[in-house]
Amino acid sequence: MAQPFLERNLRIASIDAFIDPPQPRARAIITHGHADHARSGHGAVLATPDTIAIMKTRYGEDAAGSWDPLPFGETRQIDGVTISLHPAGHILGSAQVLLEYQGQRIVVTGDYKRLPDRTAQPFELVKCDLLVTEATFGLPVFQHPDPADEIARLLRSVATFPERAHVIGCYALGKAQRVISLLRESGYDAPIYLHGAMLRLCALYEELGIPLGPLLPSLDVPKTGLAGQIVIAPPSAIKDRWSRRLPDPVLAVASGWMSVKQRARQSGVELPLVISDHADWNELRATIAETETETVWVTHGREDALVYWSQQQGLAAEPLRIEAYEDGPEEEGE
Ligand SMILES: [Zn+2]
Ligand SMILES: [Zn+2]
Repeated sequence: MAQPFLERNLRIASIDAFIDPPQPRARAIITHGHADHARSGHGAVLATPDTIAIMKTRYGEDAAGSWDPLPFGETRQIDGVTISLHPAGHILGSAQVLLEYQGQRIVVTGDYKRLPDRTAQPFELVKCDLLVTEATFGLPVFQHPDPADEIARLLRSVATFPERAHVIGCYALGKAQRVISLLRESGYDAPIYLHGAMLRLCALYEELGIPLGPLLPSLDVPKTGLAGQIVIAPPSAIKDRWSRRLPDPVLAVASGWMSVKQRARQSGVELPLVISDHADWNELRATIAETETETVWVTHGREDALVYWSQQQGLAAEPLRIEAYEDGPEEEGE
């Protein structure tokens, strides 16, 4: 294909706009609200209305010089570059960015997954000439189980230990709301208790039209009242003093990383739940094939295996090695 109009640091040169830039930039396109993608301090921010609402909630109204909401499927023209956003299925408002310029189509996936999720707009496949794909779980060992089976294991444990509280470590943006929604989908309609760090974003999801059922702050409940109940907390809280005020807690964590047994054991997790908001190895490969792209740039995670696989399919492929997306604490909970 012709020389791409996107640079390898995800800058669109002709309009000096960056996608998910780690440093403050005059013009930024933000794929979704997680902190390794959405930072405060940019000039103009273009993103979906949900992502902008999430950024304002986390960072404040003045976290960007100006906000440019672009709903899914609409287009924005800037100096001959056509920009549109398409659902990535990762968290509420998460988008893939489609850039069109002089007949060339480039898609930047951001973080994505293709499994159904009632808390995010469903992933949409977008055909392109150059695909910039994430690779968080870009190794053949990563094959995520059905999340409904993981929730069923959790509910069996709750039924088996009615005198214990089950505390589930979940990242506060996205994972917490998804786990709550999965519980509701499986028929669990009792109140779910929230650590204080979960309150704001759960309230925002409900405001944005995602029903989560009865939620209560765990702080308001005496210790004995939490026996047999489910409490959602940030992964960092389940091991510290906070969890000691729960009755004999069963420590669970919901994360794609919980498929790595050693990781679960090291973090003292009794009930690892393999629930991921990222594509697994099979989804990553299927997506590359279905976009009919000729060129693949791999970023955000385990890049090399996916580059090698793409080359074996006859595609031009290379790793981007953008340091901003190294596993930070933000990604741990996903
Ligand atoms: Zn993310
Ligand atoms: Zn990410």
